[in-house]
Amino acid sequence: MDKVQILRKISQIFFFIYFIFFTSFCLCFFGLIEKFILKGSFGSLVLKLVVIIVLTLLFGRVFCGWMCPFGFLMELSYKLRAKIYKLKKLPKVSEELHNKLIYFKYLVMILSLVLTYYLATYAFCKVCPIGFLTNLYGTVISLIILITFLIASFFLPMTFCRYFCPLGAFLSIFSIRPLFILKTNNNCVKCRLCEFKCPMQIKITENVNQKECIRCFECKSSCKKGGISFSIK
Ligand code: SF4
Ligand code: SF4
Repeated sequence: MDKVQILRKISQIFFFIYFIFFTSFCLCFFGLIEKFILKGSFGSLVLKLVVIIVLTLLFGRVFCGWMCPFGFLMELSYKLRAKIYKLKKLPKVSEELHNKLIYFKYLVMILSLVLTYYLATYAFCKVCPIGFLTNLYGTVISLIILITFLIASFFLPMTFCRYFCPLGAFLSIFSIRPLFILKTNNNCVKCRLCEFKCPMQIKITENVNQKECIRCFECKSSCKKGGISFSIK
């Protein structure tokens, strides 16, 4: 494991403990948006939302790859399978299907916000998979979703992040063109080793979809040629 991955693991463990044991309201910022719809105010947590949006505008979806507790659990799930079966390539779905499914999370986001407004309740928080662990808004449905996606991620990495997460959809709006972008450089020999390790099924050697990239840097860590840059240009 290289230094970046060690740092990322420390960050993920820190935020997992923080979100599960030390947050008094919602653990994800989507809950804050629902709060705004319900109460007309973000309350004292607005600063956290601003920090995450600024981070996303600068670096892309680092929240997803470095802080999200559910993302952390799904990563453990797919890595467990990769370790057991000694996978050299992560499983994928067909490109055509993948390119359609990535838009489903936007529907989940819009539906959650509309339901929050019309039902006057925290629509997504009540089914949020990690809500069950935090004991804040979790329901039996949360638990079912948690288990379902942990199993799904065992077979297809980060299934929830890729296709269903409304927070991922929200953050991707701010990461269409972050200041720092991830892309291949002149050292790249197009061996595609990085693509085999990308849990978000991104075509790194063609064009890194910055909106979908969760900044896990698994690609950068797996490249032996120094073929990936993360920089302003
Ligand atoms: S692993 Fe490195 S050299 Fe191979 S395709 Fe990816 S960036 Fe290029
Ligand atoms: S492109 Fe690289 S940093 Fe982005 S999700 Fe894939 S492996 Fe992670």
